[in-house]
Amino acid sequence: MQIGILALQGAFIEHYKMLKSLNVEAFEIRQKKDLDKPMDGIILPGGESTTMYKLLKDLDMFDIVKEKIENGLPVFGTCAGLLLLAKKVNNHSTSYIQTMDIVAKKNAYGRQLGSFRTYGTFNNKENVPFVFIRAPFIESVGEDVEVLSIVDDMIVAARQGNQLATAFHPELTDDLTIHQYFISLIENNKKTS
Ligand code: GLN
Repeated sequence: MQIGILALQGAFIEHYKMLKSLNVEAFEIRQKKDLDKPMDGIILPGGESTTMYKLLKDLDMFDIVKEKIENGLPVFGTCAGLLLLAKKVNNHSTSYIQTMDIVAKKNAYGRQLGSFRTYGTFNNKENVPFVFIRAPFIESVGEDVEVLSIVDDMIVAARQGNQLATAFHPELTDDLTIHQYFISLIENNKKTS
């Protein structure tokens, strides 16, 4: 298994380290030609969604990434990555890749007090550490979307087919639950495709 991690900006190295701990091969996607490498999944890290979007466009990578996801490549978006995947970002003029049927709210917890750590339930597993940094949350989901985590009545993790999105940053903890979940999505995808 080989996972590509979008490495234009943001917290990509941390994802790389998580995958290494799980003995999964990973590589950084820094330029258009890196998208030619075979990959079984792609991670869109946290960072700043507008900056990442602009870089994807400027480096002529946006359409290729979008097409891969549309064609079923398993994707895991964390925080800014969630915003990139969302069909709509409610409080922002631009929406981005728009492959996931979720409506997100950017900087949903406010700019100043927007960073906090808590423990929550992910896909019925309790006590998973969640780190939020100027995080979005999901305001609403389409009917094909499975809600995986809720914190304070807000949806903070969801899956639609091969697309997984979390408002929090599992890569900034030492808990491998969410990455393991993504890997099982990829394994299931390989079996069925
Ligand atoms: N607030 C950031 C954005 O709008 C996301 C923050 C993060 O990824 N930690 O893209």
